[in-house]
Amino acid sequence: MPRTYRREYERLLPLVEKPGRYLGNERGAVRKDLGTVRLRFALAFPEVYEIAQSHLGLQILYDVLNRRPDVAAERAYAPWPDLEAALRQHHLPLVSLESHLPLADFHVIGFSLQYELTYSNLLAMLDLGGIPLRAAARGPRDPLVIAGGPCAFNPEPLAPFLDGVLLGDGEEAVGDVCDAVLRWDGRDRTALLRALADVPGFYVPAFFAPEHRPDGTIAAMTPLDPTRPRVAKRTLVDLDRFAPPASPVLPNVGVVHDRASVEVMRGCVKGCRFCQAGYVYRPLRERNPERVVASTADLMRRTGYEEVSLLSLSTGDYSGVNPVLKELMDRLVPERVAVSLPSTRVDALSPRILEQIRRVRKTGFTLAPEAGTQRLRDVIQKEYREEELCAAARLFADLGWRTLKLYFMIGLPSETEEDVVGIAELSARVAAAAGGRLAVTASVSTFSPKPHTPFQWAGQLDLEETRARQSLLRRELGRRRIAFRWHDARLSYLEGVFARGDRRLGDVLETAYRHGARFDGWSEHCRLELWQEAMAEHGLDAGFYLRRRPLAEVLPWEHLDAGVSRKFLLQDLARAVEGILTPDCSIERCTYCGACDFATVRNVDYHPAGAKGADHRGAEISRWAEMAVSATESGDLAWETKAWRDARARGARPRPRPPVARDTPLPASLAGRALPERPVRRAPNAAGDGNAEEWLGAVRSALTPEPPSPPAVQRVRLRYRKVGPARFIGTREIGNVFLRAARRARLPIAFSNGHHPMPRLSFSPAIPLGFSSDDEYVDVDLTVPTPPETVATRLAAELPEGLEPVDAVDVPRTAPSIDAGIAAFVYEVDLAALDVPPAPALVSAALARFAASRSFPVLKRGKSGDRMVDARPFVRALADAGPHRLRLELAVGPEGTVKPGAVVGALLDIPAADVAQLRVHKVATRFRAAA
Ligand code: SF4
Repeated sequence: MPRTYRREYERLLPLVEKPGRYLGNERGAVRKDLGTVRLRFALAFPEVYEIAQSHLGLQILYDVLNRRPDVAAERAYAPWPDLEAALRQHHLPLVSLESHLPLADFHVIGFSLQYELTYSNLLAMLDLGGIPLRAAARGPRDPLVIAGGPCAFNPEPLAPFLDGVLLGDGEEAVGDVCDAVLRWDGRDRTALLRALADVPGFYVPAFFAPEHRPDGTIAAMTPLDPTRPRVAKRTLVDLDRFAPPASPVLPNVGVVHDRASVEVMRGCVKGCRFCQAGYVYRPLRERNPERVVASTADLMRRTGYEEVSLLSLSTGDYSGVNPVLKELMDRLVPERVAVSLPSTRVDALSPRILEQIRRVRKTGFTLAPEAGTQRLRDVIQKEYREEELCAAARLFADLGWRTLKLYFMIGLPSETEEDVVGIAELSARVAAAAGGRLAVTASVSTFSPKPHTPFQWAGQLDLEETRARQSLLRRELGRRRIAFRWHDARLSYLEGVFARGDRRLGDVLETAYRHGARFDGWSEHCRLELWQEAMAEHGLDAGFYLRRRPLAEVLPWEHLDAGVSRKFLLQDLARAVEGILTPDCSIERCTYCGACDFATVRNVDYHPAGAKGADHRGAEISRWAEMAVSATESGDLAWETKAWRDARARGARPRPRPPVARDTPLPASLAGRALPERPVRRAPNAAGDGNAEEWLGAVRSALTPEPPSPPAVQRVRLRYRKVGPARFIGTREIGNVFLRAARRARLPIAFSNGHHPMPRLSFSPAIPLGFSSDDEYVDVDLTVPTPPETVATRLAAELPEGLEPVDAVDVPRTAPSIDAGIAAFVYEVDLAALDVPPAPALVSAALARFAASRSFPVLKRGKSGDRMVDARPFVRALADAGPHRLRLELAVGPEGTVKPGAVVGALLDIPAADVAQLRVHKVATRFRAAA
């Protein structure tokens, strides 16, 4: 069994900003005995914990892999620069979160590629993990390094560093990869890659050789195996084959999406022409609504989260959205669990549901018109019409929202100055429609053309032009008093280069990484000059990658088949030129994009038996909005897929998939055409418009008020220990950790009333991050009488490792707060944690000097700055407590207290930078005697 590094990391963690990122002790984390499994698989995400841990795809694969008894899947995320520096300084490897095993000791490293600006982090993780950067330099004992995710649909800039790439859905494919690795004899790495190339959806970059012309364009992408000229993506036909993860990892530190998530649908056929996910994840596949309700209710019981998000690319378009929301809200709202839809077309929702959403999203609503004029919205196939936006804004204001964010892009194909100014004009008209009751913000990013979309040939704005259009917007929005948020032009520029980049960019990436590029997606970390220098060093030019591509040019990703055919993309581009919308094939006819083979792969959309056509998807929602999702014995409320019902009815035969030919003639409409600048109108009420009129009937007075919280009838004071990894759970997070544990334990926690009901949990004063403690307290108010020992026992079963209830007692609900009665804290400080602990004689001398002193100045750091205070009056006791150990009692009064580290640091002359290494343990809390 290879060596692990838990102890070494524990020594480093007090020195970094957020140690909770690296603990791996969350509930739901799977720690298998690595000696008993046959395959160790590291799921790697090249971003910081808070983003990586929010990603549902990673949780799904973690669950799928760990269900196999022969596989252990562990997580590895990008270390923040402070930890990277510490690892390099101490010559320590990057390890997995669960077992602290170096990445080099895994059999497979699987990276999730969600964003091009994480590529430098990917190299950092390989390098710190002890793995040769270049795939060609790896030997039989090195891990197999693979990647998947949306960016994997053009992995060429990363090709030199990846052994393989999984295209498409991972649930089934990842198991096939494990099987191939387990069958391998561990000798010839090329033999392993050949076996993996047989796995559907698996691309081995080394088996394709690009050839470039002197001008940099690709002359040919030659397959080394001529029988495999293209690699097609993997499609999971039936999402319900894999239930959503039932016991996901529950983070102890605040993450970006701090809630439960259930994927209700994959793929989207709305056809927004800029959206890569909308093309590469076709066809549309919905989960059975009944199973969504059942698995969501179960998930909430297991996680204790106070919010669940129903995820997809456009959840408002999910066939069962209204009935599922109704059912879930009926079940969950009484338990104060909110249901949210992160991506929603408001026109697909009923008034009742919008009201329910308002209860969750109290702070604001976001709409994404994407373009400022109707002409440009037609070019990009974005369905919003101005009347709908204005009506939505009015309704949001009526329902009590106070802020509205509008998302736009600049630099979309055919954009003119009129379109840019149109963003400001539209924002102002939407604000006016709400009668000034909504604070409107225009949030504007720069369009970056993505592979496998109809706009993959389009040009991208360069830095200068982006900034010029941002300036124009700043002026125009400012004149209209609309707030303006803009995306950093440098980030869009780099994203554009790598999104449509070729294999030559691998050298640029490695050079920029070696010169210090990290976290390039974070404005404050992005160092564009490093990238520009690296491009120049390798004779490449960003303009080459951002330019408009001729339609006949071989694109770096054309040997990868994302399902949607080149012919369809060209046809759709032609429709964009004309400003013509492509129908939604889940409502209307198939437009032959190529994603379905109609034998096994097809749109899977559930609707109530009896619903016809688009009844359930926007045209006649009111009929279905109040429907229940639970099937009855008569079966008349059952859900079925349209495709399956039709197939049964027709006894359908599979239709052959049209061949994808590279020499497809270009549509005549594209020959020599420029994108139009005149508005192109479409007929009103076209299919897929949704039913804005229906929800516009909602008025605030007709909506159900928030039910009052049952009153608290009992207060239990719980004493608990905070030890081991839990000492790195911060003050802000501890409340959520307890609340979620209490929900899982089914304890009847009381809530405050009002607009923002808060759980009635009240903690003793926070101890600094990294301190452990035997004596912490929390007061828990309950709505149903419960024996205190039951509270302690049930919480003990649900709290994460290191939070340990000790005892619990009833206290009167009128009792003073815990803080009010505290007189002092007793600490033990472990000096052995220092790199060079002070000699015992030196400690004895310092203690003697302290005992004789009348005052003892220490530095006190505060929000308003640092100042010297006299610590002497606070120190009730200070004594030697054994080898390298001091015990001190510090008084707490109206003027506060002092930190044990500050006292011990000053006592022993420990440099400020080393004080954080001291291991401090709170032994006891001293309470004032009752009056
Ligand atoms: S092949 Fe037809 S039905 Fe399937 S996703 Fe494409 S357009 Fe829709």
